Amino acid sequence: MKIQQIREEKIKLLAPAENMYKAAVFYNPKMAFSRNISVAALQVFKKIAGRKIVVLDALSASGVRGLRYANEISGIKKVFLNDKNPVAYKLIKKNIALNRLKKKCVPQKGDANILMHQNVFDAIDLDPFGSPNIFLDSAARSIYHKGFLAVTATDTAPLCGSYPETCFKKYGIRSLKTDYYSELGIRVLISHIILALSRRERAFIPQLSFAKEHYFRVFGKIEHAGKITDLLKQFGHIMQCFNCGNRKYGNIELRCFCGNKFEFVGPIFLGKISDRKFCAEVAKECKKKRFIEEGMLAKQLASESELPPFYYDLHYLAKVEKIKLPKIEDFIARLRKSGFKAGRTHFCPTAVKTDAGYEEIIKMLK
Ligand code: SAM
Repeated sequence: MKIQQIREEKIKLLAPAENMYKAAVFYNPKMAFSRNISVAALQVFKKIAGRKIVVLDALSASGVRGLRYANEISGIKKVFLNDKNPVAYKLIKKNIALNRLKKKCVPQKGDANILMHQNVFDAIDLDPFGSPNIFLDSAARSIYHKGFLAVTATDTAPLCGSYPETCFKKYGIRSLKTDYYSELGIRVLISHIILALSRRERAFIPQLSFAKEHYFRVFGKIEHAGKITDLLKQFGHIMQCFNCGNRKYGNIELRCFCGNKFEFVGPIFLGKISDRKFCAEVAKECKKKRFIEEGMLAKQLASESELPPFYYDLHYLAKVEKIKLPKIEDFIARLRKSGFKAGRTHFCPTAVKTDAGYEEIIKMLK
């Protein structure tokens, strides 16, 4: 494998000099965005926790993520950097030495599931190829009961309903292709994480969740089992009418007002997927660290965190209803003037989130 030395923030990194999908060890420079916001989120968790933390970068590849945690976050006791690929393990060891982080970083070569079955960590980062589903049961055993869990998923197509059967197989939840597919996909992922952790008596409370390019990233704090009931109460179904585009969520209804039969999605978590205060703190942390774009995203997540689930894509509605697309800011102002909550969402640049119902929205668009 050809190796080059690069930098990511303050870390020197020996990384493959070849196409990332062909190289023996994976490194994607574009995922620096995910690593930056993860550094800020973990720092905020550490501050709230008020104790030194032991972190597991369970699927480490070059080690870049774990090295950055060790180097950029104050109050880290140890970071374990694990990969089952022996070539990655060698590279992780070299990168630890290159950055003089031997005191804080522990390289590990093995299956992440075995490591998590045998140890407890304050914070676990799961950044797999594709779905994280096969790591969640062991993460649930391994996470401290006041811990923090960060999860990436890159299998967005099944999650967003393009392959309902694959989604059901992997996540146990029925997803369907809708016009709010991005939020639906991340909620399927979050629902699955909540249920996987609740099996091991851990409550996963979402703190910051976002969709970007080809991936979803979710951060949650872990609470004791007493909080699980409250989470489960926030599960419900989505009723989707593929005739007129209407959707409803909560208790099951069989028919849309247009007469068509509803299709069902779920059961799915309908509660908050980001916490306003946590996201605002992450935005401040990003500002301190000069992560400009990441800070803007965290701010946006704070602002949309208390709006109801599932956005309406005005582009889609304008097409279905054959009407002229209004300016999104004007439409939001009109909704607010009529007494509804309304705002933009990071999920889709042409969408609004609002507590106005489908019929009211259509009326106001015409
Ligand atoms: N976190 C890395 C980063 O930020 O650059 C990227 C990780 S890469 C997407 C996924 C890694 O997981 C690969 O290096 C692969 O070898 C490793 N992996 C896959 N299955 C594993 C398992 N069961 N145990 C440990 N490592 C595994």
